[in-house]
Amino acid sequence: MKHSKGLILGAGMTGLSAGWVSGLPVYESQSIPGGICSSYYLFPGQSRRIYSSPDDKEAYRFEIGGGHWIFGGDPTVLHFIRSLAPVKSYKRRSAVFFSKQDLYVPYPIQNHLGYLDKEIAKKALDEIMVAPKGNPKTMSDWLEQSFGQTLTQLFFAPFHEKYTAGLWTRIAPQDAYKSPVNQSIVIQGAFNKTPPAVGYNVIYIYPKEGLNTLAGRMAERCNVNYEKKVARINLTQKEISFQNGSCAKYDNLISTLPLNRIMEIAALEIDCEPDCCTSVLVLNIGAKRGSKCPGEHWLYIPDSNSGFHRVGFYSNVDVSFLPESSQKENDRVSIYAERAYRGGEKPSDEEIALYSKTVVKELQSWKFIEEAETVDPTWIDVAYTWSWPNSNWRERTLKLLEEQSIFQVGRYGRWIFQGIAESIKDGFFVGAAIGKI
Ligand SMILES: Cc1cc2nc3c(=O)[nH]c(=O)nc-3n(C[C@H](O)[C@H](O)[C@H](O)COP(=O)(O)OP(=O)(O)OC[C@H]3O[C@@H](n4cnc5c(N)ncnc54)[C@H](O)[C@@H]3O)c2cc1C
Repeated sequence: MKHSKGLILGAGMTGLSAGWVSGLPVYESQSIPGGICSSYYLFPGQSRRIYSSPDDKEAYRFEIGGGHWIFGGDPTVLHFIRSLAPVKSYKRRSAVFFSKQDLYVPYPIQNHLGYLDKEIAKKALDEIMVAPKGNPKTMSDWLEQSFGQTLTQLFFAPFHEKYTAGLWTRIAPQDAYKSPVNQSIVIQGAFNKTPPAVGYNVIYIYPKEGLNTLAGRMAERCNVNYEKKVARINLTQKEISFQNGSCAKYDNLISTLPLNRIMEIAALEIDCEPDCCTSVLVLNIGAKRGSKCPGEHWLYIPDSNSGFHRVGFYSNVDVSFLPESSQKENDRVSIYAERAYRGGEKPSDEEIALYSKTVVKELQSWKFIEEAETVDPTWIDVAYTWSWPNSNWRERTLKLLEEQSIFQVGRYGRWIFQGIAESIKDGFFVGAAIGKI
């Protein structure tokens, strides 16, 4: 049996960066690196995923976790990314789409009240100007206090019902910076249609040859052991058992696996209710471009009949996501539609097949697409992590694991909202700290 001073679990962006700086072995359940940041290719009319760009370049490029655009980030991390995979920079184009009224309101809606019906805009503006009262306990309280009843009923309630799979009335407020409220910009947007762009992803970057080139080039310089799914961790023996029957011993463990899953794998429990999460079903679609396909990079949709809350357009960000023969004409479109489920409540294959058909029909009814050439679902088991009001589950589980020499890192490992650049930074930090012990 192999014994290592340190081991890393998971070869997503976090595990790869920890592996890069530490040189420690990385164990990954899949046969490719990158975790949910892996790109893949599908030929029109085919369903076999290919993990590198085909020679004839006649395939659609998609991502396992839907569009992954690199926002924010420490300058050194961005320099690192650029040195491995040349990138292009993009200016965000996103909007809220009310499908029943065929109305687009640029993101964020509170800064673009001028696009709404005058009466509604006036009511919403009056309500936003009232300073928040009290200390909101739940996300629904926070939204109503920040944006008022009118805008909440119009957009935030139906959108968050879908985005959090119904949890928004019970979970704690989180990530307020995603929907910033700045009263002077709100006023500007109510009377003038071009307020300044705000938020964490106004400008973002993406590798010219696809996100998989970044993961692939990091993996080339790491010691990754593929198809090693961790099944059990014996804390007393400090021993990992993999699903294929092999084992490895460790002194310290760096884990990028979701916090709830590592607790199960290590058979650990604490005496409080675990925090909740949502899974996301991503539907990747390659299609003939419809006559009313918008030019946005992604849309927040509060009223879809099929249940998705966000639709993104890979090929509106960059035409390199299309088969080469369509890149000049831009007569095709590659899309991802995201739908949330309560953590781990994965629909059956039949349900997914039925849902896929419904989504295609709905996008066709909006004239976003014509004929769909490929429709491919992917499942993100732990996608968004939430906490119950006043919960200390996260802090207590992290501490308990640290006492067992298991150091959790990354978005799912530490149960936080985080993008790729921050995940890479955290991986570097933990890898450097544990690697030489
Ligand atoms: C829907 C969605 C959209 C997002 N969009 C963006 C975006 O636009 N921009 C951005 O910067 N960030 C985005 N993110 C966040 C981004 O995905 C994360 O920051 C990043 O993927 C975290 O990487 P990771 O390595 O920590 O996790 P992961 O990518 O999940 O890697 C974990 C790895 O562990 C492996 N693994 C799991 N279980 C086991 C096991 N039992 N044994 C062995 N290996 C195992 C997995 O196969 C995987 O490779 C998005 C996230 C979601 C959910």
